[in-house]
Amino acid sequence: MNDDTSSPLSCLPIESAAPRPRRSRQASVVWGPRTVTVGGDAPVRVQSMTNTDTVDAIGTAIQVKELALAGSEMVRITVNTPEAAAQVPYIREQLDRMGVDVPLIGDFHYNGHRLLTDYPACAEALSKYRINPGNVGKGDKHDRQFGQMIDAAMRWNKPVRIGVNWGSLDQELLSSLMDINSQRPEPWDAKQVMYEALVTSAIDSAQLAESMGMNGSQVILSCKVSGVQDLVSVYRELAKRCDYALHLGLTEAGMGTKGTVASATALSILLQEGIGDTIRVSLTPQPGESRTQEVLIANEILQALGLRVFVPSVTACPGCGRTTSTTFQELAKEIDDYLRMQMPVWRTKYPGVETMKVAVMGCIVNGPGESKHADIGISLPGTGEAPAAPVFIDGEKALTLRGENIAAEFHQLVENYIEKRFGGHATEVA
Ligand code: SF4
Repeated sequence: MNDDTSSPLSCLPIESAAPRPRRSRQASVVWGPRTVTVGGDAPVRVQSMTNTDTVDAIGTAIQVKELALAGSEMVRITVNTPEAAAQVPYIREQLDRMGVDVPLIGDFHYNGHRLLTDYPACAEALSKYRINPGNVGKGDKHDRQFGQMIDAAMRWNKPVRIGVNWGSLDQELLSSLMDINSQRPEPWDAKQVMYEALVTSAIDSAQLAESMGMNGSQVILSCKVSGVQDLVSVYRELAKRCDYALHLGLTEAGMGTKGTVASATALSILLQEGIGDTIRVSLTPQPGESRTQEVLIANEILQALGLRVFVPSVTACPGCGRTTSTTFQELAKEIDDYLRMQMPVWRTKYPGVETMKVAVMGCIVNGPGESKHADIGISLPGTGEAPAAPVFIDGEKALTLRGENIAAEFHQLVENYIEKRFGGHATEVA
């Protein structure tokens, strides 16, 4: 018997860090004969939002198509005026004509009750409505106008997202919670009252919708804030208090690296705890940057956490003083760009290709080892090493590339590998 607890033989296996699922109710987002489910046992869904003027039906349909091709499974559009509402059926029609298989979500504020009533074709063409309870009217108008939107959702059999945002929080609710707080023997700080107001607004609105006849499984909730720690606190509480499906997103995340890191940090903490059924990365595009960037980041977050697989992954070392050329950086980028560009076609042509792993490494230190772990990998020569690049396929060294055309030859080997492994018929790889 081994009593030495420090011995590796006496250790318990390290537990997997896989996220613990929170089982929410499942909503169905339907368009034509198609359905995408949100919550329950569905995978975490990626969604995004256009930034075009919805009145420009063609421009909006084109951007919806770009977002869908990038991997967005639902696309939200602003429906803010009668003119925009009138264009929604044409946008849907245009998408169907282009073969773009994605549901449209209508984003309503202030006048959604009127638009959904006055433009039934818009209400029908949309697959889900976003309602902001802070922007549906004040006083006795609030419940009446909220009820009109819920009526439309029930009439057309659409799910709703009740989306609370701290920039447009219901001020009457906030002041009443502030009053209650001031009566406490030990009042909470203002931030805690704000958290409580966000969670209460979302859950009370969902319960109000249910009391009006809405099926609770067709209600999705969100409580968006712009600070990482605030988001984590609010969603943990929201998840604890209800079993509605949750839409997760850090609102106004910002631009570039800051927006990307903040979104990834906040969403990852919550997703790792099993909180979140659909995500949106609210990135401000940099000038000239495609709107699709937010979709790629959302995909990467889910793929990095091991929750979804969207594109083949390229493992590349960071490079160091052992490799002074940029060859391996260029090759890694070229392969990565190529794989992403091909994915819209490959998804149907090569089922399963998204699970492929490619390694592009900079020298002999970790190159062969990492390449063996990949489906196909190359270990490029570092400074002072022999000008030879061994290629590993399915864990075995397959051949060594030499000379000026290493990049082009490796590119071809990757294509051959995909064709052979995922194309359903045999082709020589090497
Ligand atoms: S694999 Fe080689 S080049 Fe790449 S980081 Fe490691 S030591 Fe540096």
